[in-house]
Amino acid sequence: MATEQKIIGKARSEGRTLLTEIEAKEFLKQAGVNVVDTRLATSKEEAISISQELGFPVVLKIVSPDVVHKSDAGGVKLSLTTPEQVGEAYDDIMKSVRQGFPQAKLEGVSVQQMARPGVEVIIGMSKDAQFGPVLMFGLGGILVEILKDVSFRIVPLTKRDAGEMIKEIKGYPMLEGYRGQEPVDVNNLEELLLKVSSFAEQNPEVKELDLNPIFAYSDGALAVDARIILEAAS
Ligand code: ADP
Ligand code: MG
Repeated sequence: MATEQKIIGKARSEGRTLLTEIEAKEFLKQAGVNVVDTRLATSKEEAISISQELGFPVVLKIVSPDVVHKSDAGGVKLSLTTPEQVGEAYDDIMKSVRQGFPQAKLEGVSVQQMARPGVEVIIGMSKDAQFGPVLMFGLGGILVEILKDVSFRIVPLTKRDAGEMIKEIKGYPMLEGYRGQEPVDVNNLEELLLKVSSFAEQNPEVKELDLNPIFAYSDGALAVDARIILEAAS
């Protein structure tokens, strides 16, 4: 069976519409989206051994079908450089999430390499009652949360749509290189938007998608977080 169907089938059998970060990344990887290699650890020992395999520094995040916003729940620890730090982060994450969400089912933590800094961008997909799937593009952080500096296009996107979406946000100069920063690879972001557009077309069972953030570099882009919500089972 295709990986996508396995992931959807597992969520359905557990009565879930929220995919875990690990499932969402696996799903998107199949669609050609560049995601940071992310593995599940179900114990502290396993988190440490996976960290050693991936190489430090690493990031640990809570994996729970009941936690949508991982950092708000105290479920994300960045820049861990030693096995001891990974062990402590594991305990801290479990403790804060249990406090905040006593009923949540905790599967463990995801372990991934700490990605090198880039310009944070986001790509989202949601469904409009009239237009169907719509893609959103914006810069990460406060630019999206407070200033709502985002652009939208209806799926399926043309290459021209993708280019326009990127250039029409007010923060576009941030992508062109500012204060001596290298310009980001805008062509790669265009291709990424087109991949997400075909992903939305090919997977009508996906109700919402969030790649937040994606780190944009001068030589490509890497999604470090992914959230997928499925349509309710019919
Ligand atoms: P959530 O959105 O559920 O709170 P994220 O996975 O987006 O959790 O993590 C929170 C923040 O941590 C991100 O916005 C990003 O700045 C940073 N981050 C997450 N994963 C990585 C990573 N692999 N490398 C570097 N920074 C990361
Ligand atoms: Mg996020």
